[in-house]
Amino acid sequence: MYWQIKNRIMTGGFPAVEIMAPKLMVRFASRIGGSSEPPFDALNLGSGTGDDEKSVLANRKAFLDSCGIAREKLALCGQIHSDKIAVVDAGGFFPRTDGLITTSPGVALGINSADCFPIIIYSPPERVLAALHAGREGARQGIIGAAFEIMTDRFGVDPAATVAMTGPGICGKCYRVDEDIARNFPEETIISIDGFPHLDLRTFCEMELTDAGVSKQSIIHSNVCTCCDSKRCFSYRRDGGITGRHWTIAMIRDR
Ligand SMILES: [Zn+2]
Repeated sequence: MYWQIKNRIMTGGFPAVEIMAPKLMVRFASRIGGSSEPPFDALNLGSGTGDDEKSVLANRKAFLDSCGIAREKLALCGQIHSDKIAVVDAGGFFPRTDGLITTSPGVALGINSADCFPIIIYSPPERVLAALHAGREGARQGIIGAAFEIMTDRFGVDPAATVAMTGPGICGKCYRVDEDIARNFPEETIISIDGFPHLDLRTFCEMELTDAGVSKQSIIHSNVCTCCDSKRCFSYRRDGGITGRHWTIAMIRDR
């Protein structure tokens, strides 16, 4: 992942994606460049976090402007830690979902996160785009597989032709979990540190992607841990729940 600053707003992008899928735009908002006060400093995009809502709205506008996206073109999900996905052809709010799929150029799919993994999947031949919120619960329930079911059944996508990205999220070393949670995940995704299980959710997401038929070399990881990178990222775990949220935006370009 590379970082760039435009109009004071720092965002991250995936250079490999720009080569593999030039019609796709993906931007990840860092915490740098907004107007929120600590502990939401500075580019908090999450509403209902305890931050001043006026700052959140100003930050959202600044971030969307820096990406060249009009507010009415943005589609967001309610993010209820489920495997539910909506197919959309316009901006709006889709409350009981954790994922969005579109074939409409210019419609920006947004995922809100601060440790959970934003997952972007794109099939260049049919121009089908999916954006998913893959937290521990949604990932375990199979939101990645659910996205591929819709993409293949409804749009004729061949998973082997897709590219997938995992955005910034919490790394295995930072993500200690209880034994009963660890038991729900495959052995290769659990790391033991000082005798305590830690979940490598990014590896789990990669396994879900390859199980669905994505080739390993078409999976691009940001390799940024929201918990390790306190300079650029908010982390729910690190900051004890009182923190900001990032948005990841994905859009099929309309020109
Ligand atoms: Zn970490």
